[in-house]
This record gives sequence, structure tokens and C-alpha cells, in this order.
Amino acid sequence: MTQRACIVGYPVKHSRSPKLHGYWLKRLGIDGEYRAEEITAAGFPGFLQNLAARGYVGCNITQPHKEAAFALSEPDARAKGVGAANTLWLDNGRLRSTNTDVEGFIGSLDAAAPGWDKRTSSAVVLGAGGAGRAIVYGLIERGITTIHLVNRTFEKAHQFRTQYGSSIQPARWEDLPGLLQGAGLLVNATSLGMKGQPPLDLDISGLADGAVVSDIVYVPLETPLLTAAIKRGLKTANGLDMLLHQAVRGFELWFGVRPEVTREQFEMLAADIRAAE
Ligand code: NAP
Repeated sequence: MTQRACIVGYPVKHSRSPKLHGYWLKRLGIDGEYRAEEITAAGFPGFLQNLAARGYVGCNITQPHKEAAFALSEPDARAKGVGAANTLWLDNGRLRSTNTDVEGFIGSLDAAAPGWDKRTSSAVVLGAGGAGRAIVYGLIERGITTIHLVNRTFEKAHQFRTQYGSSIQPARWEDLPGLLQGAGLLVNATSLGMKGQPPLDLDISGLADGAVVSDIVYVPLETPLLTAAIKRGLKTANGLDMLLHQAVRGFELWFGVRPEVTREQFEMLAADIRAAE
């Protein structure tokens, strides 16, 4: 029987997930289907209640439903840690959930710079929004003991310290020049640098030699921050790397095979993104 999964959001037409999962289904020869379902906030609880009746074994969740999905399912430790769910699956009638942005981010670093976590115990993270939560949670899981969290709204960075503990060092934008001196890991988790958003202007000349730079924005694919890091010969991970790695677990849960992120798949989606840049 054809196994079906989907991405649920509003709007959802922009989503690249059907192409991403469609690639794996075809390559692995699986009798499966992955669709996009545009569902309003009012219709969302009913949609989830009838997931099995609609023929689905699970789904991805995108905006604006991530918090509602968390509340309407049985979240695992990662979803609880982030406070939002982006991947749901039916497990003997139970609707369970996780947050795969955590492993998407960590997976992108592991692929770009294997052993990164053995070479640094501290990080500078820009952004205390939803993505920032998944990133901070993942860094703490991997043993990073000092996270300088820089956010425009300082109070939000401070709330992270209350939630995630003393490894979070809340900081203001004006602290950045000092924090970047000698830093071994820099992550942009703000929307700055994204198409249609203000640019992210940073001088990264003070980063340690051998530092790793991640920018989770994926339109454009290579942000000015990543261009500057590549010019300095630093290892980099981009937003598409994170998107692809976050998709692995959902596919495994729904279709029973753990897929590999491939260069061919990256290039297929990169071409799509470049066309939108
Ligand atoms: P969010 O919850 O709305 O958070 C936005 C963050 O950007 C906040 O920290 C916000 O600071 C900061 N920000 C926005 N405009 C700013 C400005 N003009 N100056 C300084 N800071 C500014 O959004 P999100 O869900 O965390 O997403 C953030 C970015 O990550 C987006 O570009 C999104 O596309 C990307 N993302 C990528 C992936 C992936 O798989 N690659 C996954 C998730 C998200 P304040 O708190 O002060 O408002």
C-alpha cells in the first residue's frame, strides 16, 4: 500500500519539502507519496485528528502551526526543549512529535566540519527566535558550554538563559565585535541577510583560524556572511544543508528507511533556490 506523508502549513505553496522527499522516494524505489496540504489555523486541529483517515502516516509542520502541533501531539524531549514540533508520526494510533531542526542544524555542521564540537567549547549565536531555540538546544546537547547569544531584543536572549541555563550568555548587538575575536563557531539564526530583509553586516576578520560559520538563511543560498567566511578559508554550512538534514528523520519515521543527503539532491534544490534569488 502506498505510504503517504505531507507538509501542513498556511501558506505552503513555497515549500521545497515535496521536491526534497520526492527525490528520496524515487531514488530508493519506495511506493510512497509526499504532498503539500494548505490548512488554515481553524482547520488544523481537525486535520490532525483525521490524519490516518486521510491516508497519512505522518507529516511535517510549518508556519503557523508548529506550536499548535506541539500542543496537539505527544512531544519528545527535543520538541519539548524547543517548544514546537515540526515532524509528526502515527505510532500505533498515538500522534507523536519531534523537532528535527535540532538535528538538521547539528547534521549540517557534522557534514561541513566533522569533529567541530571537539575543537570548540563556545559559540556565538545571532538570533533568539524559533530557529535560535533549536540551534541552542542542539549546541547544548553536543556539549557546547558557552553560548554567547546576541539578539536585537535583549530580553529574549535573557529568557533563553532562564530556560536553557547558565551556558547561555545573553549579549547585545554592540557586544559583537568583541565576541567575534577568536570565536570558533558563529551561527546566524536571524532573518538578516534573507532576500527582502535588511543585510547582515559583520566583520569576521577576528574569528579564529579554523572557525566554522553557519548561516541558516537559505535564500540566497550563499549569503554575504558565507562569502566572507569562504574567502577566509573557513568551513561553512548553509540553510539548505540544514533543511536537507532536518528532513532525514521524518522520512525514516514515515517510510522506514534512513536516507542519505546527497550532492545531487543538494544541487537539485539549490537550482530551485537560485531561480528564486
Ligand atoms: P523568528 O522566530 O521570527 O526570529 C527572527 C530572529 O531574527 C529574531 O532573533 C529577531 O530578533 C531577528 N531579527 C529580525 N529582524 C531583525 C533586524 N532587523 N535586526 C536584528 N535582528 C533581527 O524567525 P525564525 O523562525 O527563528 O527564523 C529565522 C531565520 O532562519 C529565517 O530566515 C528562516 O527562514 C531561517 N530558518 C531556516 C531554517 C533552515 O532549515 N535552514 C529553519 C528555520 C528557520 P528580535 O527577537 O529582536 O525580533
